[in-house]
Amino acid sequence: MSIAERVGEVAARIAAAAAGAGRSPQDVMLVAVTKTVNPERIREAVDAGVKHLGENRVQEALSKLGSLPEGVTLHMIGHLQTNKARQVACSFDWIHSVDSVKLAEELSRRCDAAGRRLTCLLEVNVSGEEAKYGATPEDAARLADCVAALPSLELAGLMTVPPFSEDPESSRPHFARLRGLAASLAPNLPAGSMRHLSMGMTGDYEVAVEEGATIVRVGTAIFGHR
Ligand SMILES: *Cc1c(COP(=O)(O)O)cnc(C)c1O
Repeated sequence: MSIAERVGEVAARIAAAAAGAGRSPQDVMLVAVTKTVNPERIREAVDAGVKHLGENRVQEALSKLGSLPEGVTLHMIGHLQTNKARQVACSFDWIHSVDSVKLAEELSRRCDAAGRRLTCLLEVNVSGEEAKYGATPEDAARLADCVAALPSLELAGLMTVPPFSEDPESSRPHFARLRGLAASLAPNLPAGSMRHLSMGMTGDYEVAVEEGATIVRVGTAIFGHR
C-alpha cells in the first residue's frame, strides 16, 4: 500500500470508530508521527490530506523543518528537557508532553521572547508504570493551574501513553482514566482547557477514539515500521 492509501485507511478507521461511539469523525484530529521519516515521504502524507505532524526529537524535527510542506501544524510529542524549550517555543505549534512546572515556565518564557504562543497538553502517566514520562495524576491539578496561568501557553488538555501491549483492549482502562481525569480537572480551569485528549497510537487508536480521544498520534500505520 502507498502512504496515501494508508492515510486513507487510517482516516476511514477513525471515522468508523467515531461513528460507532456516536461521535463525529471531525472531532478527531490525526497527527501523523513522522519521526525517522524523510521529507519526501512526509510530503506524500501531506498530499494525501495530513495536516498535523508529530515529532519526538527536537534536533531531528529542526533538521527537516526547511523541507516540510507549508501550512502543516507541528506537534512535539516526545519528552522534552528544559534546555530544548527555546527550540520548541520557536518552531512548534503544539506540545503534548508538558510534565513539569519547570518545563512549563521555561516554555512560557521562551514563547514570550519569541512572540509566539504554544498550545499545551499535559502528559499524564495514568498507568503508574515506572520508567515512563508524565506527571502523576495527583500532580496534574497543580500543573494544570500553572500552565493555565502562564500568558504565552494555551492549556488545551491531556495526553497519555499507556504501557505497551499487543492487545489494544488493554489500553482501554488507561484511556478511560485519562478522560475521567480531564473531566475532574475541567470545572476548576478556564473554559476549553480540557477540550483535548491526545491518546491512541497505531496499535490502539480505534479503542482510543471509542474512549473519547480528540487527537490520535499514528506513525507505523501510515509510514510502516521504523
Ligand atoms: C512514536 C510515537 C507515536 C506513534 O507510534 P506508532 O505506534 O508508530 O503509531 C505516538 N506517540 C508518541 C509519544 C510516540 O513517541
